[in-house]
Amino acid sequence: MSSSDPQRFQPVGIDPAEVKALAKRVRGPVLTPEDEGYDTERAGYQLARQHRPDLVVGATGTADVRAAVEFARSHALPVAVQGTGHASAGIAGEGGVLINTTRMTGVRLNLEANTAWVAAGTRWDEVIHEAAPAGLAPLSGSYPGLAVVPYTLAGGLSLLSRRYGYAADHVRSIDVVTADGRLRHVTEESCPDLFWALRGGRDNFGVVTGIEIGLVPITTLYGGSLQFPGESAAEVFDTYLRWTATVPDEMSSSIMQMSYPDIPAFPEALRGRQAVNIRIAYAADTLDDAEGLVEPLRALGPTSDTLGQLPYTEAGSIYADPPSPGFIEAGTALLGALDTTAVRTLLDLAPPHAPVPHIFELRHLGGRLALPPAVANAVGNRDARYLLNVVSRLERADITEIRPAHKRMLEALAPWSTGGRLLNFMNGEDAAKEVRSAYEPKDYQRLTEIKAVYDPDNTFRLNHNIPPADPRNPRLA
Ligand SMILES: Cc1cc2nc3c(=O)[nH]c(=O)nc-3n(C[C@H](O)[C@H](O)[C@H](O)COP(=O)(O)OP(=O)(O)OC[C@H]3O[C@@H](n4cnc5c(N)ncnc54)[C@H](O)[C@@H]3O)c2cc1C
Repeated sequence: MSSSDPQRFQPVGIDPAEVKALAKRVRGPVLTPEDEGYDTERAGYQLARQHRPDLVVGATGTADVRAAVEFARSHALPVAVQGTGHASAGIAGEGGVLINTTRMTGVRLNLEANTAWVAAGTRWDEVIHEAAPAGLAPLSGSYPGLAVVPYTLAGGLSLLSRRYGYAADHVRSIDVVTADGRLRHVTEESCPDLFWALRGGRDNFGVVTGIEIGLVPITTLYGGSLQFPGESAAEVFDTYLRWTATVPDEMSSSIMQMSYPDIPAFPEALRGRQAVNIRIAYAADTLDDAEGLVEPLRALGPTSDTLGQLPYTEAGSIYADPPSPGFIEAGTALLGALDTTAVRTLLDLAPPHAPVPHIFELRHLGGRLALPPAVANAVGNRDARYLLNVVSRLERADITEIRPAHKRMLEALAPWSTGGRLLNFMNGEDAAKEVRSAYEPKDYQRLTEIKAVYDPDNTFRLNHNIPPADPRNPRLA
């Protein structure tokens, strides 16, 4: 944080001698707000809101994580963790100790078990690259630059999820440093409660230093995008929704309405105009029927068509999410079956009718996502059919206009909403308040009880927080 930061917070003022002592125990940097490098160390993808810790520790491995957690505990400070920082908007904490895991990278394949052990800060692109020569793929999402551990422990909606389920459903073991500073190797056999809770409850129980995940035998996809002019949005959305009801579980897709900014960076024909994009990722054993499956969409006459076979190592090109950090505000909802009225409602509230520019996207759920995993976990809301995301960039509109516009759209969609949310997509203003909605009610209750065992003082609270149950009255959590 620069000294000219107008919103400078008041650090608690940790004794410099104690910071020095911690720095001796830790191989990575240990920085306070006064130190050069503090801003870089706490920076993540989301620029809108970032952590402002009293102390940031750039962990290089498990020993550094343990030292940081023990230090925080002994000073009664909360602990936050950051991988690539895509989720910080809405949950970024003020004060406490932030552990940055970006130096903790590494992938170790076990080709007998078709698994990979992945260190805390490793991004998906590294796992995809390592697994591909063995004919395997991980359950990565639309953007391969996300960190594996936070994505997976929050559920993890993959391009392959309609066929295989959530990424969390494929976790075999977890190494975690709990609030008492202990490193635990957690499996279904060794610690069933914590294993259940971590897969869905993510950072509420400790700092995960590595996970072992299952890989699937996928090398090639049929995928890409189809773009349509904004004028045909109603027809394209209606057709798309009917189409999703007919496709096999191997077909994952989404539909997005976006507006091109009126700036010279875009071709004149697109500037200031709306477009509709359908993204496809088909992951069947044979891709021979792919062209036939997408024919009803192609019949709508796309203006751009990039569909074709591609290696899984290029799966990131389907969504082509921008790698550069951004000022982003997002709202989200899980929806059930959608009809023509739902589509009209969405389009009536979207640009050019909306007061602020925003993108909205529906991702098709269902398939294996709707089924319980082989080993139960805390990931909830498996009955939803679509995920709605509404995203605005703060460079293009004021936050005081963006929030009401997003709220209006989410409220208008209430008749189709399941009331639930996916933790990985809860980044907006109300993220911290919405945590319960990520879980089935009885699972949320169980999470609070497990939290009371492993983190009774709520050391891990600078997150989508699940408070510990009150042991005298568990229902008061
Ligand atoms: C462009 C884009 C595309 C996306 N696509 C998808 C998608 O296809 N599917 C999907 O499911 N999600 C998707 N997401 C959401 C994404 O999965 C989450 O934002 C996820 O948290 C990102 O990981 P990260 O490393 O940036 O997390 P961070 O923002 O660094 O951390 C997120 C949370 O995880 C916790 N955490 C981080 N590291 C650890 C650790 N080692 N131990 C315990 N807790 C930890 C943190 O405390 C924090 O609360 C997308 C997000 C963006 C911005």
